[in-house]
Amino acid sequence: MTQPDTPLLSIRGLNKWFGAYHALRDVDLQVARGERIVVCGPSGSGKSTLIRCINRIEGFEEGSITLDGLGTAAKGRAATREVEEIRRQVGMVFQHFNLFPHMSVLENCILAPMRSLRESRATAEGRARELLARVRIADQADKYPGQLSGGQQQRVAIARALCMRPRLMLFDEPTSALDPEMVQEVLDTMVTLAEDGMTMICVTHEMGFARQVADRVVFMDQGQILEVAPPGEFFDHPRHDRSREFLGRIL
Ligand code: ADP
Ligand code: MG
Repeated sequence: MTQPDTPLLSIRGLNKWFGAYHALRDVDLQVARGERIVVCGPSGSGKSTLIRCINRIEGFEEGSITLDGLGTAAKGRAATREVEEIRRQVGMVFQHFNLFPHMSVLENCILAPMRSLRESRATAEGRARELLARVRIADQADKYPGQLSGGQQQRVAIARALCMRPRLMLFDEPTSALDPEMVQEVLDTMVTLAEDGMTMICVTHEMGFARQVADRVVFMDQGQILEVAPPGEFFDHPRHDRSREFLGRIL
């Protein structure tokens, strides 16, 4: 039985190497149900690697990452079936949308629910249309990704992830490849999702978003978590020299 007060996601003693390069060092992070985490830090600090370990795109050598009891096997060598289950429950939105270019928006959204959740086409389509409406793009369902703007494509990517009914959403710099005028429409979609109670971990340097939405900001540097604090505290009174230096550069 799952206790409601246990964290949804629990990362303990996570260490990862790329060959000799120590990419994640003793990372510990507990994320509660409904919590919104913003991860920031300099380029190369391990933010993407951390996100990729959470949904097991990357393996890791030490520590554990459990999603509501799934993935308890240490060292990232969770059983294949468990890894599949974790990926089903964790939605991911990348910097570069990663939509299938040869499929329509609707087909992009129904593929995984039909394949992995074994939903009928009618069920998958119904839900996809609902979610496309929620990201305010219902009228684009029959277009191909290449016919949409970057902001529209990213909103499709969010809707597509939501079609799998994830319990946790991961965002890796979802607005950093967008033209400036499209950033806000994607952030607005993410704010709506947060307000609906979705548990989210967002790598972003959009500090207005962090202040508005985050329960806690995680600052990473050189593969380590150096500081975890509520946004008000982190932005106004960063404790670590390197957090101050980082904020000085981006604000
Ligand atoms: P961030 O997302 O914070 O910019 P990353 O997690 O992408 O940082 O990368 C952290 C470090 O790990 C960087 O030094 C990067 O070069 C290295 N790295 C990332 N992926 C690989 C890989 N597949 N092979 C080797 N080194 C990698
Ligand atoms: Mg990155």
